[in-house]
Amino acid sequence: MSTTVTQQLEGWGRYPRISAECVRAGSRRDLQDAIASRDGKPMLARGMGRAYGDAALLSSGITLLTERLDRILGFDADTGWLRCEAGVSIAEIVRIFLPRGFFPPVVPGTRFVSVGGALASDIHGKNHHVAGTWSSHVRNVELLKSTGEIVVCDADHESELFRATAGGQGLTGIILSMEIRLIRVESPAVEMESIRVRNLEEFFEASDAASDWPYSVGWINGLAKGNSLGRGIFMAGRHAPAGTRVKKGPLALIPRRFLSGRLLQSNLLLNGLTARMFNAAYYRKQLRRNIRRNVGVYPYFFPLDAVHRWNLMYGNRGFFQYQYVVPPDPEHRALRQTLSEISNSRTLPVLGVIKEFGPEQHGGLSFPTPGVTVALDFPNQGDRSLSLFSRLDDIVADAGGRVYLTKDARLGRDAFRRMYPDWERWKVVRDAADPDGVFQSDLSRRLGLTDAVD
Ligand SMILES: Cc1cc2nc3c(=O)[nH]c(=O)nc-3n(C[C@H](O)[C@H](O)[C@H](O)COP(=O)(O)OP(=O)(O)OC[C@H]3O[C@@H](n4cnc5c(N)ncnc54)[C@H](O)[C@@H]3O)c2cc1C
Repeated sequence: MSTTVTQQLEGWGRYPRISAECVRAGSRRDLQDAIASRDGKPMLARGMGRAYGDAALLSSGITLLTERLDRILGFDADTGWLRCEAGVSIAEIVRIFLPRGFFPPVVPGTRFVSVGGALASDIHGKNHHVAGTWSSHVRNVELLKSTGEIVVCDADHESELFRATAGGQGLTGIILSMEIRLIRVESPAVEMESIRVRNLEEFFEASDAASDWPYSVGWINGLAKGNSLGRGIFMAGRHAPAGTRVKKGPLALIPRRFLSGRLLQSNLLLNGLTARMFNAAYYRKQLRRNIRRNVGVYPYFFPLDAVHRWNLMYGNRGFFQYQYVVPPDPEHRALRQTLSEISNSRTLPVLGVIKEFGPEQHGGLSFPTPGVTVALDFPNQGDRSLSLFSRLDDIVADAGGRVYLTKDARLGRDAFRRMYPDWERWKVVRDAADPDGVFQSDLSRRLGLTDAVD
């Protein structure tokens, strides 16, 4: 049976924060009942709340908490096809299936996301250049529509609804379950090569040289300027052969109780000096230019998960992540312009990643497009942060790029429409699936995605 509670909700960035009426669903029956008794109120499904901004927030409406829809419904060990409910997390999939020699085809930087959230954001991982996004590996989805009807969408049946749901931010319906194909791996180890890069030229050289590695990503120092623009560490990886032994990283030596954002909560990352020290220490921790070693899947794919609730380290005002992609350009003009704008801005970018996306693109609201993506975390410094982001929005939109809605808490409608030219086509499909406009979020209201078209 479902229970209704009012609770404070926030995204991973802890901004904005709202009070929300929530129904915790334990079954699809609970969800159908919630729709039938919604009394004219809008609704939104929420997974593990790892979207950074307001994609999983709904003020004045009913938030449907889906974490208890967590059953594995079937697995074919010959083919890797897994059928599971939407609240199953990637952490659970790794825990259950890695010992059996299987791994999710795409993983984000944290394992604490639900598969429903993974599809609704159409997430990408370090292997986007060869594997595309989450939805490329999904065969079908069971979707509960606002009418109470359950439809199964796949490439042949309700294919437009399938595509609109991938990256559709929960606005087409409630994802109940899906079939996703896991990949085979021989061991729980990853062979990793990391290379210190002094600037963007060296990053792209390393990235080109590693094009046959299935995983690649760079850590980037957002404070670096001039000839050092793009300074960081490039990391390539691949699943290691059976029997590979791994070397434990330094975090494994620290007792887990000391690795909590709550203990470190002291506005630590709000201070220019600590932000600079953090970036410099990260770069210098790699003493040699090029290192090869074997590590476990957890430190390789989910390094930040080692620190419980690390998002608390940004203090009470929370933080923003600005993630964008700009199309390929041999001279990297928009990339240089955005990075220069950031490093000259008196903001404090702390954690940053850079990656080249591959050719695959799904349209609609799915974020990845060919080009280079950068994601940087900034403590919330109010107007100083917001005015930087609107300058970046202009550069990104002018270049034909876009920001990732799953990470966003403040993009304006006009900039959004320039960045996602496919939005009107997406909205036609969404409006047909949900003619009464039941599924809404604070993000969809801000971007005009669930308004009547003017
Ligand atoms: C540390 C960290 C690293 C990350 N790294 C990456 C990365 O590398 N690549 C990447 O792509 N993303 C990344 N993300 C973002 C994350 O993968 C997405 O935000 C993902 O959607 C979170 O899943 P969730 O279960 O927490 O969903 P929530 O945050 O709860 O919801 C996200 C969206 O999914 C919708 N949704 C959730 N469940 C359902 C459902 N059952 N039916 C319909 N809609 C639903 C919500 O309405 C909302 O729009 C990262 C996030 C964090 C915190």
